[in-house]
Amino acid sequence: MKEQPLFKRVAILGIGLIGSSLARVIRSRQLAGEIVGFDASPSVEARARELELCDRFGKTAADAVSGADLVMLCVPVGANAELAEAMAGGLTAGAIVSDVGSVKRAVIRDVGPFLPEAVHFVPGHPIAGTEHSGPDAGFADLFENRYAILTPPPGSDEEAIAKLRALWEACGSHVEIMEASHHDKVLAVTSHLPHLIAYTIVGTAFDLEASERQEVIRYSAGGFRDFTRIAGSDPVMWRDVFLNNREAVLEMLQRFSEDLMALQRAIRWGEGQTLEDLFRRTREIRRGVIEMRQAGTFDAREPGKVPPPIQEAEDVQEAAAEKDDA
Ligand code: NAP
Repeated sequence: MKEQPLFKRVAILGIGLIGSSLARVIRSRQLAGEIVGFDASPSVEARARELELCDRFGKTAADAVSGADLVMLCVPVGANAELAEAMAGGLTAGAIVSDVGSVKRAVIRDVGPFLPEAVHFVPGHPIAGTEHSGPDAGFADLFENRYAILTPPPGSDEEAIAKLRALWEACGSHVEIMEASHHDKVLAVTSHLPHLIAYTIVGTAFDLEASERQEVIRYSAGGFRDFTRIAGSDPVMWRDVFLNNREAVLEMLQRFSEDLMALQRAIRWGEGQTLEDLFRRTREIRRGVIEMRQAGTFDAREPGKVPPPIQEAEDVQEAAAEKDDA
């Protein structure tokens, strides 16, 4: 007898990088009987149709979620409230509503109030991505050997959590359950702050005199290139991340600024030992991260390998796979 898929009908709202990757992996691993798509952008929907990412598309968000036993919100964090309001009337009792947003407290705040009592809300965040956007950028093994963090609010339905865990595991991810505020703090330092630093450095370089700017680009292999890759990430997505994880980012930024000041002072006063001590410490941290993988790099797509602890996952994956996560 043929095994039943995990879900009868999955609705994916937002068919960009993450939504289209989900559609691809759900399709290729037969995790749902039917995939229904919806995207606010007609050109994205048209492209998703060409790529045959979904079985069909909803005319509206409410139409797309109708009859779905899993609804995945895959839009920029700032679009969730409007989308939740628009789809709420179409939700079926017993459905699981989840998301992939890079910030979790804001999603609970924005989506929760629109959901009827009869649906189960289990927010989530795959720690996987690239600096590219749109349906062409997605691929089926994006989530392979990456973490997926679930942040169910207290009192969430255990069965719903287990089903969502099963979905992410079937996508190849390692699932962790975390409190939303803890998630936001951890990601503020592992992902959001590094992106802010990259945006700043690249912006500063761009503001240099034209001749100096040319040289920055020419000699970018000296470290700058990696920052440009991160700073090439989606502007709308990242605007929403910073606006919606304001407190945690500002807290980490404060600590970072203090540490930067200390370094500035050490350079000004020629305190070489202070600099060397820090650089040795950070090199040890880097070595520890590599040793955890027993080799130089961690290939997120190598089956059977367990990724490093969540706090370090993104940096390591970035270095190894030339990708960045949110
Ligand atoms: P993306 O490639 O830009 O895709 C988002 C799609 O959602 C776009 O097609 C967008 O259309 C559409 N959209 C926007 N507002 C909508 C609405 N109200 N209703 C329906 N569709 C709407 O973005 P992504 O990289 O997949 O990111 C999606 C989510 O995943 C974000 O919350 C992000 O924080 C999270 N995430 C991203 C990464 C990453 O590395 N990129 C990693 C992990 C998690 P328009 O283009 O017309 O606006």
